[in-house]
Amino acid sequence: MNAFVVADAGLCIGCQACMIACAKAHSPAGSPESGQTTGAMAAGRVFQSRITLVRTAEVTVPVQCRHCENSPCANVCPVDAIVQKDACIDIVEKSCVGCKSCMLACPYGAIQVVADDTVCGKQAVVEFREKTGQDTLHVVVKCDLCFDHGSPACVKICPAGALRLVEGRQLSESIVSKRRAAAGRMGRIGSQH
Ligand code: SF4
Ligand code: SF4
Repeated sequence: MNAFVVADAGLCIGCQACMIACAKAHSPAGSPESGQTTGAMAAGRVFQSRITLVRTAEVTVPVQCRHCENSPCANVCPVDAIVQKDACIDIVEKSCVGCKSCMLACPYGAIQVVADDTVCGKQAVVEFREKTGQDTLHVVVKCDLCFDHGSPACVKICPAGALRLVEGRQLSESIVSKRRAAAGRMGRIGSQH
């Protein structure tokens, strides 16, 4: 079962620290973005988070990819750019053609199309320019659970403890303990009759 980050709307204070940590974690090593936000702004470059903080009248809470089993985004991708990678659903950015099919398919609005060469490997950008003559490469990005960083940066940074990584094993254990609790309740009800 895939892992995912779950957010508790009751705890989130809307500080956006998770978005900043996410953008920083996914910026190329050595770029201004990987150092600090002011560096990215000074360089006039996109500081791209893969989390979207949603504010409504009732809640403030980050929304991001749930790494669905049989993921709808992967199922509709015409070039197999969305793949299963260990316990997460990942995007192979150099394969993406920016057709936006995955954006339509995702029930969470968790995928964004970005026009930022820095999110791709340099070679992919060079090949794209040679092939199309266009300067800007559009690709989709979404949460990859910080696959290359060990653990999600958003979870580590959140000052309110509003984010939690749920792994498949924990989900299975939680279901087993809920079933046990339910069976116990049913047993108590049965003994009263
Ligand atoms: S860092 Fe935590 S408290 Fe701040 S916006 Fe993100 S989830 Fe909410
Ligand atoms: S991008 Fe959307 S559809 Fe794809 S795995 Fe994430 S939540 Fe599911």
